[in-house]
Amino acid sequence: MSGRRLVLALCLAAASIAAAGAQAPPTGADAIVRSPAFVAASDFLGRDYDRFVRELIALTEIPAPPFKEQARAAALLEMLRASGLSDVEMDAEGNAMGLRRGTDRATLAVLAHLDTVFPEGTDVHVKRDGTKLRAPGVGDDTRGLALMLTLIRAMDAAHLQTPHDILFVGNVGEEGEGDLRGAKYLLLKGKYKDRIKSFISIDGGDQSNITNGALGSKRYRVTFKGPGGHSYGAFGLVSPSLAMGGAIAKLSRIKVPANPKTTFNVGVVRGGTSVNSIPTEMSMDVDMRSESPDALNKVVADFHAIVQEAVAEENAARSTKEGKVEAEVTLIGDRPSGETPVNSSIVQNATAVLKSFGLTPHYSISSTDSNIPISLGIPAITIGRGPSERAHALDEWTDVEKSSAIKAAQVALAIVFAAAQ
Ligand SMILES: [Zn+2]
Repeated sequence: MSGRRLVLALCLAAASIAAAGAQAPPTGADAIVRSPAFVAASDFLGRDYDRFVRELIALTEIPAPPFKEQARAAALLEMLRASGLSDVEMDAEGNAMGLRRGTDRATLAVLAHLDTVFPEGTDVHVKRDGTKLRAPGVGDDTRGLALMLTLIRAMDAAHLQTPHDILFVGNVGEEGEGDLRGAKYLLLKGKYKDRIKSFISIDGGDQSNITNGALGSKRYRVTFKGPGGHSYGAFGLVSPSLAMGGAIAKLSRIKVPANPKTTFNVGVVRGGTSVNSIPTEMSMDVDMRSESPDALNKVVADFHAIVQEAVAEENAARSTKEGKVEAEVTLIGDRPSGETPVNSSIVQNATAVLKSFGLTPHYSISSTDSNIPISLGIPAITIGRGPSERAHALDEWTDVEKSSAIKAAQVALAIVFAAAQ
């Protein structure tokens, strides 16, 4: 290495040390994990394990379909009250929450979502299978809720002091048509909206995964309406079903980029009244997603043009003497995209914590409650709750083997504690 190169290398090294110093928390991840208070809280997690499992089962067995989270929210509210938080309350949207006071007023929000994707009537009874618990929703995100409760008790038992307040929230409306309504209310309307300065959602299985990217989506319901009529007697009139079929065929031929990954789906189609009637109404629900706002806007623009084309083609192809086919396009889901930079302190602290537990961190893009803070410029990540698989399927399970479950809770505790500095 020449002298000049050495100087340059030293300058770069000094610059990166300075940069790391600027982003480092007052106490590093290793220092946090080794601190007596954290060790005490960690030990408590082991003693609290049975209660964690008991509460996970109890909460899982309270159904929480989309828009019907009230019973589970009420149960969680009592559990939050019993855990030693202050200001325990339910907001107007149905989020159940409580505050753990720090020394400054800046607030870290920690969320797990109450809702599941499963409709009313789904059997949510938990079945034990060795160390696995099996039930719809047991992982996504009920384990997140139970994990949150044990973390709160551990912090309380060890008298952990944090500079920031921590607002723990069991939120509504994360899944599907809930459209992140709980997180939206919390950050755009709720009483803490101007105090929340950082945000962690506990909602994913793999703990080595840090979701720092927000996958944007737009969802629409398109309702095609027409005059209808007898399938034989009125044959030749325009038909909403044929217009919709034309639109779906055109959608299927849209070219979307593989990178940034951009997708579309026709997820639900409905309509018609009988096999021998030209329908008066048909509808389809369409989901479009992209890692990139520009690519999302492009596929959405294509979709709107296609709907208009398909309607025009149907009105040109058949008789409109009893009326035309028309399409009504309604936005039913809108999740913004964006990113919390990898070099931000919330991501760097979580990364350091994972490494200190021997995990290899990786970063990903997904659609979670963190989409909302990220779109508002509030640093946010979504972290794992511990091993669970088959989310959104009836055979969903989570593994609560004792030593790995305790380690999972310790990892989450260290990430939350580091973010509250
Ligand atoms: Zn979830």
